Amino acid sequence: MVENNYFSENQDLLEQFDHLVDWAEVVEAYENGFSDHKKYQETGDDRFAFAPATVDDAVQYYRTILDSVGDLTGHQVAPVAADMEAIGLKYDNGKVTFPQPMIEAYNKVREAGVQPYAISRKFGGLGLPSTVQCIEMELLGRADGAFGIAIGCVNLAETIERFADEDMVQTWVPQMAEGNVCGAMALTEPNYGSDLPNIRTRAEKDENGVWRINGTKRFITHGCGFAETPSVILTLARTGSPTSGAKGLSFFLVRGEDVYIAGIEKKLGLHCSPTCEVVYENAPAQLIGKEGFGLVKYAMGMMNAARLSIAAQSMGIATAAYYEARKYASEREQFGKLIQDIPGVRKMLDRMEREIAAMRCLMMEAARTIDLYHWKQHRLEHEGVPDREIRKDEQIRFWNKMADYFTPLAKYYISELCNSIAYDALQIHGGAGYTEEYDVARIYRDARITNIYEGTTQMQMHAAIGGINAGMSQSGHLREYLDKEFGRFTPSAELKEIRELFETITERYREIKNSEMREIRAFEAVESSARLVNGMLMERGAAKLSGAARENRLRLAMDYHLDSLAIMKGNLIRIEAALKDRQPAAV
Ligand SMILES: Cc1cc2nc3c(=O)[nH]c(=O)nc-3n(C[C@H](O)[C@H](O)[C@H](O)COP(=O)(O)OP(=O)(O)OC[C@H]3O[C@@H](n4cnc5c(N)ncnc54)[C@H](O)[C@@H]3O)c2cc1C
Repeated sequence: MVENNYFSENQDLLEQFDHLVDWAEVVEAYENGFSDHKKYQETGDDRFAFAPATVDDAVQYYRTILDSVGDLTGHQVAPVAADMEAIGLKYDNGKVTFPQPMIEAYNKVREAGVQPYAISRKFGGLGLPSTVQCIEMELLGRADGAFGIAIGCVNLAETIERFADEDMVQTWVPQMAEGNVCGAMALTEPNYGSDLPNIRTRAEKDENGVWRINGTKRFITHGCGFAETPSVILTLARTGSPTSGAKGLSFFLVRGEDVYIAGIEKKLGLHCSPTCEVVYENAPAQLIGKEGFGLVKYAMGMMNAARLSIAAQSMGIATAAYYEARKYASEREQFGKLIQDIPGVRKMLDRMEREIAAMRCLMMEAARTIDLYHWKQHRLEHEGVPDREIRKDEQIRFWNKMADYFTPLAKYYISELCNSIAYDALQIHGGAGYTEEYDVARIYRDARITNIYEGTTQMQMHAAIGGINAGMSQSGHLREYLDKEFGRFTPSAELKEIRELFETITERYREIKNSEMREIRAFEAVESSARLVNGMLMERGAAKLSGAARENRLRLAMDYHLDSLAIMKGNLIRIEAALKDRQPAAV
């Protein structure tokens, strides 16, 4: 693996951090008038000692954390990734054993104090906005996908912090922040994956009023905990009648000690991430929040952050693939020259470079949309403001809608591109890429899960298309967003053409009457919106830069636009064929 500081030596990422993020906006949304700092001044409570007092302070605090994570991931984790995978996980009679190099790297990262990023300072977490969290997840994912999950799963505590009652929060969240307990999320069952509203695992109260869960959950990451640290398993179970659908589901906290780990999957990739079968036999459970809100409110309420986390992991894996390919191409000679100078190879590297820049723009914008509503909503919920009042808040309403569009877009686009970048990275390695001599084979395997878990690409389409249909109406939020963002810079002629093309695509798409055809062609509409948004974000970013950095970003944007025009014209042809009710096979 390329070994350097994965934060401070990644030019594109640094540019985002130093110039493209509007920190004043993010910090204002997260720090709530620097209330944690004020608490520290009033009380001297150590938990708030690092809370920033100004925007500059906050940016410095974030930079210090990310620089440290960049150093750890690039110098401590990445060098042992191949060893960890070669040793792998062992399962024996309910117990999972992790590779020693992974445990050592895990301890180093924990001791460095750069975790947990999603838990508030008052409970012992770092207290970081989504914009910073996603960069940290990217850095971890770049070093090793499985390692990133192991170190990050404790952040599931955020769900408890947000929705559980005070007792449960006080009991579990500080323990998780301390590292005494890991987190796991158990939704999937053998017969229900995408189709969560129909899951069967049951929760019932016993004669003493204690909830008991019976059933089997499948594919549960870290259901077994990590090394000697047990997990709390946030479990979705049915409390309503068998036909009660999504509204009959509730969320429970179950201790890892109260379930049986019946096995772990042998998988294509992520060999050091335990994917557990979890058996509940009268397992005692504590209800999180209210009955019937498990899927419709709590899982949904955390969905945008969950999608962003996999988008960020994909970003990291794609970045690893890109840098491995660049390195190999700069060393390997064929026909008397370095393969990076051969046009066919250069073409692949160039595409990776511009897609990586586009993907990172999209990831950062998706994080921004979460930051601009999530923390304010969380604060109001804790103050006991009723949901219907919260929904009336203009800022929350607008940015929540934008996040509901941007996070499935980011999850789909970045995970799909992560796969295609890993594919090209292996191609650039030639036959050597197909062997275990190079890291790219592992990266390629790890990439493959990103567009499947936490909602497949096809499920992201269902989520994103709604944001386009409603959002592109005359007074729609997506149109309002695009108008506002386009107003911040002078768009190129190419970008204007892409926007017009997108208008035509959405108009034509909305004219499709046949519902099956609309579902089939949703991909073309969503992909086109991603091309427009990414191109816009690239140009918006270039406008904030100067000199060579600006020129470089504009060059990438122009090449990206060329691809976009070709893709979107093809998409329009398909959508227009669908209007004539032509079946896809005939298109
Ligand atoms: C390594 C790994 C780790 C995981 N970790 C966890 C975890 O920690 N917790 C957890 O709860 N789950 C976890 N999962 C489960 C994961 O979220 C599911 O595998 C995923 O949501 C897909 O569900 P499924 O596998 O049942 O596929 P299915 O739902 O059976 O889907 C099969 C195919 O049909 C498509 N499809 C299904 N329904 C639709 C639809 N309505 N429209 C269009 N296409 C559709 C899908 O896109 C897919 O291509 C993990 C899985 C893996 C492999």
